[in-house]
Amino acid sequence: MSFTERELRALAAEGAAALTGSPATEVLQWAVNSGLRLAIAGSMQDTVLVHLASTALPGVDVLFLDTGYHFRETLQTRDRVAAAYSVRVRSITPRQTVAEQDADYGVALHERDPDLCCALRKTQPLDEVLGEYDAWATGLRRAESESRRDTPIVSYDERRDKIKLAPLAAWSDEQVAAFAEAHDLIANPLLSQGYPSIGCAPCTRRVAAGADARSGRWAGTAKTECGIHV
Ligand code: SF4
Repeated sequence: MSFTERELRALAAEGAAALTGSPATEVLQWAVNSGLRLAIAGSMQDTVLVHLASTALPGVDVLFLDTGYHFRETLQTRDRVAAAYSVRVRSITPRQTVAEQDADYGVALHERDPDLCCALRKTQPLDEVLGEYDAWATGLRRAESESRRDTPIVSYDERRDKIKLAPLAAWSDEQVAAFAEAHDLIANPLLSQGYPSIGCAPCTRRVAAGADARSGRWAGTAKTECGIHV
């Protein structure tokens, strides 16, 4: 089943009205029951959304943006999730390897132009793979940062012409931690080593206890988002 832009917009509006306050698994099931081809974006920071998706929609596709710059612990978390959860983990790679990018743009592009590096290694690969789907779900939460405080649970992704779900939008940090503990979820070990928000290794720093969780991302620059959510 394929959808026109108009149909997707109508479905997004319908979902937004119907799913306020709904449990995360209901949000995911709504998408599939609506006939949408759904993918879950999995950063492998925590695995709450992937776990919920594996129980509600066994076999669902999980997209991991394998930028070539991830921490070893993050890649190990991805591999553990792929082995243990009922999902199909797809590692999505950029068009160029890091070495090819270095040759074309110079080494350490992330230091000189992180927006371009993120565009090449995250945004473009995600945009391309999402062509295979009608909807995608992310683990975005309002509590994560000021810029995410208005995150809707269901929206229309204008840039990609997809439905975008944020089933955990209303979850607090404490809820995430409690759920992960109660269900003994696979966790990225960096979470307990001072990294409350985990991205690529060159652009992620430890943060002091109690500090803004995302302050360790692109620390020392004005950049706060990689671009896939804007
Ligand atoms: S987070 Fe850093 S290394 Fe990763 S894609 Fe963005 S700029 Fe490049």
